[in-house]
Amino acid sequence: MTFDLTKILRPHILNLVPYSSARDEYTGKEGIFLDANENPYQSVNGQHWNRYPDPYQWAIKEKLAPIKGVRPTQIFLGNGSDEPIDLLVRATCTPRVDTMLLMPPTYGMYQVSADINDVPVIKVPLTPDFQIDIEKVLPAIVPNTKIVWICSPNNPSGNLMQREAIRKILTQFQGIVVVDEAYVDFADEPSFTQELDNYPNLVVLQTFSKAWGLASLRLGMCFASEELIKVLNKIKPPYNLSGATQQLLLEALDYVKAKDQLVKDILAERERLRTNLATLPLVKRIYASDANFLLVAFDDASAVMQYLIDEKIIVRDRSKVILCDGCLRISVGTAEENNTLIKTLKAFAVTA
Ligand code: PMP
Repeated sequence: MTFDLTKILRPHILNLVPYSSARDEYTGKEGIFLDANENPYQSVNGQHWNRYPDPYQWAIKEKLAPIKGVRPTQIFLGNGSDEPIDLLVRATCTPRVDTMLLMPPTYGMYQVSADINDVPVIKVPLTPDFQIDIEKVLPAIVPNTKIVWICSPNNPSGNLMQREAIRKILTQFQGIVVVDEAYVDFADEPSFTQELDNYPNLVVLQTFSKAWGLASLRLGMCFASEELIKVLNKIKPPYNLSGATQQLLLEALDYVKAKDQLVKDILAERERLRTNLATLPLVKRIYASDANFLLVAFDDASAVMQYLIDEKIIVRDRSKVILCDGCLRISVGTAEENNTLIKTLKAFAVTA
């Protein structure tokens, strides 16, 4: 397959002249800066947030690249992974003309981004065991299909997609294949970031919101060819990550070992939660999980959901989602939270 990004981008994006910020035009660190209409003194609270931050977050990318085994120029950082999701749609899909392919049940933002951008979606459901239905996906792709979205481990089912199916799409589809790996830190398989140099049409999304415990900072990662990262940089808002966010992330990147330990703890809790849930008669099925949550089928999901809300335990009702009949999605909590959940569900089993 020969992949040509210029054929995938919307023509006006290809030719776009991006906004050039003050920090784009002069990148030196020393000097008297009278170029960005900033407040020269300080912030109102006496702190020093008065200068615009690095628009490309190079200090972070230099530190993150070796952690992820990629080059700094293959990284785009966004305000959550929801930002690159939207930018990818806007860069490639002409509204009402181009299409994207989704495999429900999957993460809801792909559809929402399609709807915001008025981009029609082709849906090819996963198989009942939540795998890519490759025999149906490949023929469903049409010439104006620009992106195929794959979520692995998938939300809400929790499982990894088979690598061979992903590879087949990468080699046979001439558009962009996004592999959203928001939950990959909890999985046993390596990330697709290691395949970036093999597949020019591969985009990998990851996030600091899950394993790293930084959801509130809103930090998403997008890994792709240098050519595509340059395009995302062209169309993003100039200073999309605040200086405070950049500083906090730079510090957090020193804690890779702590992140690994958190993942271990969450995985141990996931298995303990699974074992305990499995003993409850009201639980019909617990699906395999490579993520930090479990998809659990109940006899009467709505009743369980309402009961848990009354008990101030909030889980996600996925029972109306395709292939997820009767299912609730339960995030793995702390040991104490999980104990309370199990105790509460046991009481439901008794009173029901
Ligand atoms: N991808 C998937 C599969 C998710 O489940 C989520 C959030 N639940 C995201 C992306 C968005 O993550 P972020 O916090 O980085 O926007």
